[in-house]
Amino acid sequence: MEAPSPSPARCVHCGGLVPQLYRRYSATVLKMVSCARCGQVADKYIEYDPVLVLLDLVLLNRQAIRHILYNTAFRSHWKLYVVMVLIEGYVTYSATAAAPAAAEPWQSADAERELPPLDAPQLHGERLFYVICIESLLASLAFFAASALGCRVLGVAVPTLRLVKALVLGSFAVFLWVPALIWRQQGDPARRWVDAAFINGYTFLGLLQTVSVLCAAPRARAAVVAALGLGAKAAARSLLRAVDGEDPA
Ligand SMILES: [Zn+2]
Repeated sequence: MEAPSPSPARCVHCGGLVPQLYRRYSATVLKMVSCARCGQVADKYIEYDPVLVLLDLVLLNRQAIRHILYNTAFRSHWKLYVVMVLIEGYVTYSATAAAPAAAEPWQSADAERELPPLDAPQLHGERLFYVICIESLLASLAFFAASALGCRVLGVAVPTLRLVKALVLGSFAVFLWVPALIWRQQGDPARRWVDAAFINGYTFLGLLQTVSVLCAAPRARAAVVAALGLGAKAAARSLLRAVDGEDPA
């Protein structure tokens, strides 16, 4: 997706270290280097269009994940992270804001239509959105911490920056919430459950593959780490929501 980093790279097939991905013979002639460990071209993606790399990433291709993680600088990870936090915050906010419409059956219609007091704070919805975004940020930190702990349990000490990049990359399915929110049929809770099940399942698979690549671990163990991270995020978000919900303000 970006220019290959100058540091020692990795073979996208076996993960072995290679001193360089290509040799330059002239200004216009390059030759890709083969991996000494597996004998295959170390990184075919350096000649690919970024769109094709992205397509392979969407297909959860391990080679594409390894290429982005190890053979590119991937400096845009923090931008993706910020957008993901905002998306997850908005998803939670929209569910919270829609909650009164789906009031419990024993609540009266009058209670649902109760007007806010005259001294209610202005821009309450905006304040709630920012609070939920902060909760989403804290939940993502719990996600990073739990995933780091899981990798450590697997016996792999991953540098923090690489771990963050990997977890952001593995969570790319969060972006599917954008079309899901746009196309969602209003007042159809079943559709929301289907969207959530699909996107969360896809996110889990993406994290499973990424952790498996990052820690060179079997998929079964990587699945435990992915479940631990996502579970910690969900628990932190629920806890924070419950604490904020008890706030009388
Ligand atoms: Zn190799």
